[in-house]
Amino acid sequence: MAGAADSEPIPLAKPEIGPREEELVLAVLRSGRLSLGPMGERFERAFAAWLGVEDAVAVSSGTTALHLGVRALGWGAGDEVLTSPFSFVASANCLLYEGARPVFCDVDPETLDLDPAAAADAAGERTAGILPVHIFGYPAAMPALEALAARHGLGLLEDACEALGAVDAEGRRVGARGNLATFAFYANKQLTTGEGGMIVPRHGADAARLRSERNQGRAAEMGWLDHGGLGFNYRLSDLAAALGVAQLERLDAMLADRARVAALYERGLAGVEGLRTPLPARGEEVRSWFVYAVQLPEEVDRDAAIGRLAERAIAAKAYLPCIHLFPHLRELGYREGQFPVAEAASARSLALPFFPSMGESQVARVCEALAASI
Ligand SMILES: *Cc1c(COP(=O)(O)O)cnc(C)c1O
Repeated sequence: MAGAADSEPIPLAKPEIGPREEELVLAVLRSGRLSLGPMGERFERAFAAWLGVEDAVAVSSGTTALHLGVRALGWGAGDEVLTSPFSFVASANCLLYEGARPVFCDVDPETLDLDPAAAADAAGERTAGILPVHIFGYPAAMPALEALAARHGLGLLEDACEALGAVDAEGRRVGARGNLATFAFYANKQLTTGEGGMIVPRHGADAARLRSERNQGRAAEMGWLDHGGLGFNYRLSDLAAALGVAQLERLDAMLADRARVAALYERGLAGVEGLRTPLPARGEEVRSWFVYAVQLPEEVDRDAAIGRLAERAIAAKAYLPCIHLFPHLRELGYREGQFPVAEAASARSLALPFFPSMGESQVARVCEALAASI
């Protein structure tokens, strides 16, 4: 007889929220300091310590972190920035906010991150920088991209919004190489504050500028209605920061759980003909598991497979669409066929349910259902 567990819906993602999160949020509520208070500073210090960097600046989202990063590098009208078409749209939009042009380059077929050789081919007169994305938590080829940046005198902004906890080819944590790097804390990320983000500055001058621009252009010593330049309201509330502090305390455990679930999937899907599972690690590189996205065999109708999984109450999603094919980027002249590796990955990739508390039987149910659906 089929038990209730066999028909229980399995969502795509699910945050881990417990008594510690409740306790710290409640403490902020009762303190009366709901923003720009001590919890925000505590979150920044704890985050920087965990990552192994000197400082980190909390902001309202990963997107606003990217926007401030673009401004810190001075990218604007007339500048071209080399970036990946296989990403979440924010990594290109942040350039458009400042009038810079995203110049897409194809991705590496194995890692799905920006291919350094393609980036080198695209570098030209107007190139001002590189914006690599550590997509699906797999570390981008930073040593090669840094060498390219050094050769051409380019700025670097790392989109690490999906990669908190990943380790790169030189054994360093993603976001801790001394480049500007951004993180995001939306509810499906490795660490969540509901909405939120963080940017790692290169030095003290960056940090001061980022803190001023997130807060309406106010420098640290300025009064409430004093403004030293153009700014934004990109602040993170202390309520959100409280969630962040609690989540950081158990980040190692949550990352280990994600790796555990990924390993269950890898075993569970090993026998499925033609299916490609994601690369967990290579050399010193280690993925921080953000989503579990497989590449379906070419002959499989993905929408039909999603429909068959839905019939069994299992969520799955086509993931991700290529950025260059969205209407506002087509307006810049981008078309199908320009980035065959990214487009092929985009056409075949399917994200399966993936969250730290996923149990063995849930993973088994997804694996069986997927095998039966393709
Ligand atoms: C989540 C994400 C962002 C943006 O983060 P938000 O907090 O949703 O604004 C940017 N880039 C990538 C690759 C992401 O996955």
